Amino acid sequence: MNGYFDYNATTPLLPVAQEAWIEASAKHWHNASGLYREGGFTRRKLEEARERLGERLGCEPERIVFTSGATESNNALFHSLALSHAGSTVLSSAIEHPSVREPLQAAFAQRTELLSTQSSGCVDLDDLAEKLKKAPRALVTTMAANNECGALQPWREMLALCRNAGVPFHTDASQWIGKLSAQELGECDYITGSGHKFGGPKGIGFLVMKNENEALRFMRGGPQEEGRRAGTENYPSVEAMVTALEGLTPQLSGIASTQSSYRQQFIAALREQLGAVRVIAEESERLWNTVMFVTPRHDNRKWLARLSQRGFQVSNGSACSALKDGSSTVLAALGASPDDMRQVLRVSSGWSTELSDWLALAQAMKQVLNELDQ
Ligand code: PLP
Repeated sequence: MNGYFDYNATTPLLPVAQEAWIEASAKHWHNASGLYREGGFTRRKLEEARERLGERLGCEPERIVFTSGATESNNALFHSLALSHAGSTVLSSAIEHPSVREPLQAAFAQRTELLSTQSSGCVDLDDLAEKLKKAPRALVTTMAANNECGALQPWREMLALCRNAGVPFHTDASQWIGKLSAQELGECDYITGSGHKFGGPKGIGFLVMKNENEALRFMRGGPQEEGRRAGTENYPSVEAMVTALEGLTPQLSGIASTQSSYRQQFIAALREQLGAVRVIAEESERLWNTVMFVTPRHDNRKWLARLSQRGFQVSNGSACSALKDGSSTVLAALGASPDDMRQVLRVSSGWSTELSDWLALAQAMKQVLNELDQ
């Protein structure tokens, strides 16, 4: 049995990624900026990996800057844009990950405006159209898929509205990439991605920039990444991240339909065994692996501990968005009450989670409820 249901937090290394990392580390560990032959080999492999990633994202490889992950990509972008767009404002949403929310606040402070979110968990397009009328806007930034409830955001429509208004559009696609096709994402002006969300190593990610030679002024130091990101290039992790994405991509549509059917069967089993269970953003299109729901009763930390004792790892979903009182800004934007927030659980599966794993989790939840009710 595989009881790991916290893939939205992080994923295990895919075997192909692990192999790629070991080989790259053994053969091409040299400095990619070194002027000797071995450095040149590493540089060539790094640039090939950039091209392969560009193919998966549908963007020119020169737009890609490798970073340490999504948090760095988001910080770098907002910090850099704030320097070049003094006086302009940014539109964002209330359901963003803190790695968007916090640096945006630091870089743009009062110059950030939030778009409203519908109870379906999606950003309101009418509100965006209205707010785009007010200039000057430096950027619109919204995620592609929500990490908590899994709601897919209408990023294609948002991009179209931004194009019309002449405003650049950034999407944090950390939860989208590796679960759904990333091929069209390259049309966005800026994209954030993170390797460990799709079977790659931790500590590696990327930021796709609008232009090939656009400056990124955040990590200062050496001239790596065309002067856009200082620090010795992490070729083995880049290789492993790109290999992971290449390994997953051809299987994605099959996995999506199998896994969403498993998830539906899990929700049905849960309702059969626990009674009324409210799924957050149930009516909207969601990531195939994610279900966030309000348990019938009891504090979610008790659920987590008891499920963990039985070999299941799930999340209360708020680790990344908890306020000081334990409530979640994302759930608040979706209309959840403080009681809901205390009882909510997030379950997120992987690419090879079996139906029997899902059903075993539903069964364990029934046992936990009985135990907690006593
Ligand atoms: N953005 C989103 C939407 C996420 O879900 C996460 C991780 O939970 C991050 C950013 C942070 O990613 P990283 O660990 O690569 O910094």
